[in-house]
Order: sequence, then structure tokens, then C-alpha cells
Amino acid sequence: MKTLKINKQKTDCISNRQFIPLSIPEIHGNEWRYIKECLDTNWVSSAGKFVERFERSVADYLGSQYAVACVNCTAALHIALLVAGIHQDDEVLMPVLTFVSPANAIRYVNAWPVFIDVQSDTWQIDPQKIEDFLNKECSYKNGNLINQITKRKIRAVLPVHILGHPVDMDPILEIAKRFGLIVIEDAAESLGAQYKNRKVGSLADIGCLSFNGNKIITSGGGGMIATNNEAWADKARYLTTQAKDDPLEYIHNEIGYNYRLTNIQAAMGVAQMECLDEFVAKKRAMAQQYYKGLNDIPGITRPIEAKWAKSNFWLYTILINADSYGISSRKLLYKLHSMNIETRPLWHPLHKLPIFKNCYAHRVEVVDKLYRDALSLPSSVGLIPEQQDMVIETIKSNARK
Ligand SMILES: *Cc1c(COP(=O)(O)O)cnc(C)c1O
Repeated sequence: MKTLKINKQKTDCISNRQFIPLSIPEIHGNEWRYIKECLDTNWVSSAGKFVERFERSVADYLGSQYAVACVNCTAALHIALLVAGIHQDDEVLMPVLTFVSPANAIRYVNAWPVFIDVQSDTWQIDPQKIEDFLNKECSYKNGNLINQITKRKIRAVLPVHILGHPVDMDPILEIAKRFGLIVIEDAAESLGAQYKNRKVGSLADIGCLSFNGNKIITSGGGGMIATNNEAWADKARYLTTQAKDDPLEYIHNEIGYNYRLTNIQAAMGVAQMECLDEFVAKKRAMAQQYYKGLNDIPGITRPIEAKWAKSNFWLYTILINADSYGISSRKLLYKLHSMNIETRPLWHPLHKLPIFKNCYAHRVEVVDKLYRDALSLPSSVGLIPEQQDMVIETIKSNARK
């Protein structure tokens, strides 16, 4: 596998003013004030009013009944799988194109991802291919839905709303209902996005969010589980706090985890939640400027927004057809890098990673082209129009004349 060699030293010594990063935090609200309050009151750790406030603000925003804060989204996914009862040798359907985190979380519970291809227009997990897989390659045995090739039980679907655009959820929810599968949403990249006027992260049985530094809002690091299932929310709270059954006598009846968020992180999260609507609006304006600026360049495909979707445009990602544009997406990446503009390819298709060689992949056809051609452009909330013009002009100037 080829790895990209970026001259890190060079980017480090270029001042922020010149360097245009891919995605950095935007901090201009009540972050200082709320974090100072934690320090002044000595409530700095995994208890304190900001943890509850953060959970409440996310639950209210999504319209979910319960929210449980976690150290990060990977931990949130791990706990979501545990409370949903996903066990050893169960299989969970997920997109072949995503950051690795949900696939890792599935392996943490000794279950197996089944990789499903993505749609060629939205780049999201393809509901039709989920249905084809279940109809053609699975069958019922003793009441269980079995993958005929691996002989493992299919238990859940884990759609990931990648790059800020929602997955076409209604067909997936319908298919899941028909086949008796649990649906776990990974909305790490897409907080603020909407599917048919419903908020991403609140569409399924349980949803997971990330507040990592490169996401639309950040708490430094953090995650959240959202659900309307009270028993699952209680169980999530229990498992994330070391599964204490008697806190005085240290009785633990299950293996627990130290996955709770700290009050300091939650304080930052509360301040960032106050800015979420503003950030989504800024991202959408940024997308509009890229859309106009990148018009009419041969070989460049701009991302679509489905008619049922409102994207948060987490990372504005384009496709570069090397034949008509003149150079490949990777060559353009290096050209932009030499101009101090940071861009990134999409994730390596998961079914081709050696760590997942024992996992089943169903009719993967679309993802290779996306992996070859995609390039995510600078998309920080704080990106200014002049910087965006520089990015656009550099892409234009490298196109075949
Ligand atoms: C960032 C990300 C995660 C992991 O989030 P952390 O908070 O960094 O653990 C999970 N899934 C997707 C799709 C992501 O982009």
C-alpha cells in the first residue's frame, strides 16, 4: 500500500496565515468562559453540570430523548453495539467507504463488519445493495438471518453519513424492519445535516456523534450516544462509568469501561453547540462558493446534495477525472500542498485493508473510482472567501489548457 509523503516540517513552519488547512476548529463563543468556570469551581473531571448540560443540549437539538456523553465517537460506537446486544460472530452491515472507526468498534465486540458498496451519486451506503445482499445471499435458519457464505448471523445495519451528507435512511429503516435488524447511525461527520427535515443522528434505534477536533463542532475530543430507548441509555451510562453496581462497596456485575467525558470537555461542547446553526450556515455558504467557482473545469465533478438532503458539507469533496482534467487527484494533492493548501483523499476502501481480510464484502463496484478520484478541499468553518478563491484558482490553473 502506498502512503502519502507530506513534508510535515514544511507545513509546520508555515504560519497559519499562509497555510490553508483542511479542517480546523472554530472557537469564538463561550468556550473560555465555560472552561474557566470548571477550573474556578474545581469541577474538572467526569462529573459536573456541563456534562449534563451538554447531553441535554445535544438531545434537544436532535429531538432524541436521551443522550450519553462519551470520551469519543469510537467509544460511543463500541457502547452502542454493546447495548444493542451485538455479540461475538454476529455480522453488521456497514459502508465500505468511511473512516475506519465503526469497523473497529464492530471488531471490539468480536462481531464482523460486512462491507456494502456506496451509491455513485451520494457516495453513501447503497440501500439497494443492502436489500440485494439480504435477499440473495442470506437465508433464515432457526429464526436467524444467516449469511450463507460466512454462516454468521446478520444482526444490524450501521449506516455512516459520510462527509456531511445524509444516507438515504427511509429504505434502510424499512429493510431493517422487514428483516428484524437493529439500525445504528454513525453521524460523526454529519451533525447538523438533515434527512427529509429530520436531524441526522436521531433517525434510527441509536446514533453516535463525534466532537473530535476536525468535526463540525469540537470539545477537544468527545462523543455522544443518542437514543429514545431508556433502557439502552441507562445501560450506556452504566457501561461508560465502569459498570458500578454499588459505588460504595465497589460491586461490579459486568465488565465496564472508563469512557465518560470530562466536565472541561463538556464545557467546550456546550459552547460549541451554541454555535452549531451558525457553523452549518457558514459551511453551506462555503459549499456554494466552491460550487460556483469550480463550475466548467474539465474533469471536475462537484458533490451533489440529494433533493431530500440538507448537508452540513463537513468536507467539501470533489472528483478529478485524470484524463479530462490532465493530472490525477494525487498529483493535484501534491500541487496544492506545494501552494500550502491542505487536501486529503478519501479513505482506503475498507474491504481491501489486510485487517479486514476475513470480512465479507458484497458486490463492491463503485468505491474504487471514488477512492482514486476524490479530493477533500479546505472546509474549515473559519475559511474566508479569499482563501477559498485561492484554492479554486489553483485548481483551475492546474487543469489541462
Ligand atoms: C471521526 C469519525 C469517527 C470517530 O470519532 P472519534 O470521536 O475521533 O472517535 C467515527 N466515525 C466517523 C465516520 C468519523 O468520521
